[in-house]
Amino acid sequence: MLGIPIVVLESRAAIIRRYGSPLVVEDVELIDPDADEVVVKIEASGVCHSDLSLARGYYPDIPIPIVPGHEGAGVVVDVGEKVETVKKGDRVFTIWMPSCYNCEYCLSGRFHLCQNALKAIIGATLPSGKLKVRDKQGGLIHHFTSTAALSSYMVLHEKNLQKLTVDIPLDKVAILGCAVLTGVGAVLNTAKVREGSSVAVIGLGGVGMNIVQGARLAGAEKIIAIDLYDSKLEWAAKFGATHFINASKEDPVEAVRKITGDGVDYSFEAAGSVKAMELAYRLARRGGIITIVGVERGGVEIRIPALDLHMNEKTIKGCYYGSSSPRLDSLKYLRLYKAGKLLLDELVTKTYRLEEINEVFKDMEEGRIIRGVVTPS
Ligand SMILES: [Zn+2]
Ligand SMILES: [Zn+2]
Repeated sequence: MLGIPIVVLESRAAIIRRYGSPLVVEDVELIDPDADEVVVKIEASGVCHSDLSLARGYYPDIPIPIVPGHEGAGVVVDVGEKVETVKKGDRVFTIWMPSCYNCEYCLSGRFHLCQNALKAIIGATLPSGKLKVRDKQGGLIHHFTSTAALSSYMVLHEKNLQKLTVDIPLDKVAILGCAVLTGVGAVLNTAKVREGSSVAVIGLGGVGMNIVQGARLAGAEKIIAIDLYDSKLEWAAKFGATHFINASKEDPVEAVRKITGDGVDYSFEAAGSVKAMELAYRLARRGGIITIVGVERGGVEIRIPALDLHMNEKTIKGCYYGSSSPRLDSLKYLRLYKAGKLLLDELVTKTYRLEEINEVFKDMEEGRIIRGVVTPS
């Protein structure tokens, strides 16, 4: 219970009620926050490809009904009595990994692999195991990745929030919590791209564009952007891509060989498809590192030529949340943004109202936007 009564309990949220069906936007009620929880007025919420995949039914084990969204930014309107890291009026953005700082993974500094956070993410609850949203009929609704940011107000654990210490518009910072941490982190933390190396990036959504700019920050010499849409290839130039391949018009393996001779030092898959993952393997040169960042549906397998893996000593890496230390890395990225080295403003290509959530998904599927941001309030 809170020391002071909270003022706002009513909210309006986008809800997945059935996998494969359009989302609905409904008035909902928030349940009083626990002592370590916070009420946030969400001013902006980025829409990630994982939200789309969830709605399409790619993760059928995640319980529904559920509020998606995990790139939220807003203002703290109330805090539980034990909350220490934020206070009323603070500007915050969401981190979708409520690391416990106590499990074996956290104690070894791998906060993105926290096993307790994973339990909450799989169960689609807050870290306490509780749900804090209910519909007008009294039915409880789940939180995607412990967050549920596609809502005008939300109850969140303080571990899911990072206080903003720099002056930056909330609709620009929202995407830091997933797209930037994942994409730039894949380059700097997972693959550890070396200066002067060659990089190929397949799939130029919010995450892919951040892989491109991560490669630029790492000092890669050749950054090859690969997508099916010319418009996205043109955008990739702004983020640092040096070469461009439209995979619907030319064979990317041949095109990459023409640019590099024998393939790239680092290939990244950010399209979320088996085909792109297998392509990423083929684009890597002898001794190359392949990083799989995209999310495929559960149960799908990729095929890798076993002898080639051995003879060419390639390394395939999975990448979860950019192998990030989310708090530390996000503060670093904000400093880089202020220094003009990390682009955020250019990533948000369109803003939408909450009622337009299904249009955001359509625009994503048809390659019209890098990142769409919903302003729910
Ligand atoms: Zn995401
Ligand atoms: Zn942990």
